[in-house]
Amino acid sequence: MTRGPQRKALIVGAGIGGLACALALHRAGWQVQVLERAAELGEVGAGLTLSPNAMQAIRWLGVEPAMQTRLSLPPWQVAEDPKTGAEIGRLVRGDAAIREYGAPYAFTHRADLHEVLVAAVKALGEDVILTGRGVCAAGSEDDHAWVRSDDGETFTADIVIGADGLRSAVRTAVAGEQTPRYTGFIAWRGLLPYDQVPDGALPVGSAITFGPGRCMVRYRLEHRQLMNFVAFAPQEAWAEESWSVEADPEIPARLFDEWHPALAAVLRASRPGSCHCWALFDRDPLPSYSYGRIGLLGDAAHPMLPFLGLGAALALEDAVVLGRIMAETADPRAALERYSRARQPRGSAAQLEARRAALRLHGQGEDPREVNEETLDYFRHDPATVTLPPASGATERPT
Ligand SMILES: Cc1cc2nc3c(=O)[nH]c(=O)nc-3n(C[C@H](O)[C@H](O)[C@H](O)COP(=O)(O)OP(=O)(O)OC[C@H]3O[C@@H](n4cnc5c(N)ncnc54)[C@H](O)[C@@H]3O)c2cc1C
Repeated sequence: MTRGPQRKALIVGAGIGGLACALALHRAGWQVQVLERAAELGEVGAGLTLSPNAMQAIRWLGVEPAMQTRLSLPPWQVAEDPKTGAEIGRLVRGDAAIREYGAPYAFTHRADLHEVLVAAVKALGEDVILTGRGVCAAGSEDDHAWVRSDDGETFTADIVIGADGLRSAVRTAVAGEQTPRYTGFIAWRGLLPYDQVPDGALPVGSAITFGPGRCMVRYRLEHRQLMNFVAFAPQEAWAEESWSVEADPEIPARLFDEWHPALAAVLRASRPGSCHCWALFDRDPLPSYSYGRIGLLGDAAHPMLPFLGLGAALALEDAVVLGRIMAETADPRAALERYSRARQPRGSAAQLEARRAALRLHGQGEDPREVNEETLDYFRHDPATVTLPPASGATERPT
C-alpha cells in the first residue's frame, strides 16, 4: 500500500456522512473514492435541522459559503398547546444561538446540503464518486482493506469507511450480522409551498406540538418558500417491506383530528405523492466504530431515532473528527481506533437519548420544554476544536 499523501480511502455510501467524510479525508491529505449503490445521486425531499454543532462541521468542511443561500435561520422555536395551538414555550434561536454557540441553528432542504457536498466532492475529481456500486462485503487485512461490490469487483485501499446508513453492509465486517430494530414509531413528512399552507399554520420560525401519543413539527424553509412538516405517532408493527412509502395523508390527519385544527389541516393540504411515511428503526449502541482498517460513520455507526434532530449532525461531526485524526496519526489502524474512542461515547449517548426523547415527545417522562437537545448541551460541541483522545495501539475485533 502507498503511504503519506497518496494514502487511499474507500468510502461506502454517498449520503451526507459519506460525502462529508470524503471532504474531510481529502483535507487530511488522503486520496478518496466513494462507492454509492444508487444509480443516481440524490436525497429525499424533506427538511433538515442543522444545529450549531452541524454548522461548525459544515464550516470546517469548507462548504459554509456554498450553503449560505440555502439556509433558513429561525428566530425561535415555539411549543404549541395541542388543544388550542397557543404558545406554551419558546426556545430562542437566531442571533442568540450564534452568540451562544458560535454558529447558527439553521434549517435546510436535504437536497440543498447533499447537492453542495456532491459538488465539493466532484471538484476533487469527476470520478471520485462511483454510482451504481453497491457493496456487499468488506474486510480488513494486515496491509490493506477491501470491499466487494454486488457485481463481484473487489476494490482495495489503505482504509474502508462504512458510511452506508442504517442497513450498512460494511458494519457487518465490524460488528457481525445484526438486524435494525423497528422502534414502534412512524413518521409522515412532506413539504408544502407557502401558498398552500392552511391559514394560521405557517409558524414564524418553527413550531412543535407534543402530547400523549402524537407529535408534530413544522418549520419554514424560507429560501425555498416551503414549509416542512413531520408528524409522528406510535404504531405497533410495520408490515411494509420498504421503510419509506408514499402515504395517504388522511391517515395521519385523522390521528391529529382531536388536536388544534391547523395540524390536521396541514396534513390534508399535502398533495397525493407529496406525503411519505417512514418506519423508524434504530440499533443498540456499538462498543466500537472500528475494526482493523475499517471504520464506521453516521447511521452505519449510530442510527438513532430522529427526536433530537441530530443524526445527520453527528455524521458531519464524525467526518470532521475522522479527518483531524487521519491528518495526525500515521498508522491507519491506530487512527481508526482513536477515531472510535473519540466518537463512540457521543454517538452511543445520542442513540439512547433519542429513545428517551421519543417518550418525552409522546407524553411520557420529562417535559420536553425542560429537557431537549439544547438543554442537554448537544449544540455546544464543536468537532473542529474538541479535544481528541490520545493516540494508542490498534484494536481487537469487538465482541
Ligand atoms: C424522519 C427523519 C427525520 C430526520 N431529521 C433529521 C434532522 O432534522 N437533522 C438531523 O441531523 N438528522 C435527521 N435525521 C437523521 C438523518 O436523516 C440521518 O442520520 C442521516 O441521513 C444519516 O446520514 P448517512 O450519510 O450516515 O446515511 P444515509 O443518509 O442513509 O446515506 C447512506 C448512503 O449509502 C448508500 N448505501 C447504502 N447501502 C449501500 C451499500 N451496500 N453500498 C453502497 N452504498 C450504499 C445509500 O444509498 C445512501 O446514499 C432524520 C431521520 C429521519 C428518519
